Parts: sequence; C-alpha cells; structure tokens
Amino acid sequence: MPRYEYRCRSCGTTFEVSRPMAESSAPAACPEGHDDTVKLLSAVAVGGTAASSGPAPSAGGGGGCCGGGGCG
Ligand SMILES: [Zn+2]
Repeated sequence: MPRYEYRCRSCGTTFEVSRPMAESSAPAACPEGHDDTVKLLSAVAVGGTAASSGPAPSAGGGGGCCGGGGCG
C-alpha cells in the first residue's frame, strides 16, 4: 500500500499515511487532530528499482579452455 506524506497547516507537522490510491486525495487529519492538511508530493517508490542496468560483465582474458584451440 503506498504511503502519502501530508503536512498540517495548523501545527506544521508532517506525517505519513498509508492508504490505497483511491483515497490518496481524501483529507487526512494530522496526529494532533487538525484537519487542515495538504498532501505533499513525495517520491514514493512503488515497485522495483532500475538502478544497476549496465552492460553485462564480459569474461575477460580468454585464456581458459577453448581459448587456444586445445579442446573440441
Ligand atoms: Zn496539526
């Protein structure tokens, strides 16, 4: 379930709420009980990360078997 970050305009605190996407725009009361809150645009990481998608490491050297035509 995604987490959304809100900020209370009454007391200035920020808090997170885990709720379904369908209720992402619904008002959320702050922990202090105020309901004058705004939803912040936070980078919510849902799913996997596409971080290490570099080129595949090559087997360097080539000095192993079949390297010099010895086998096969
Ligand atoms: Zn508050």
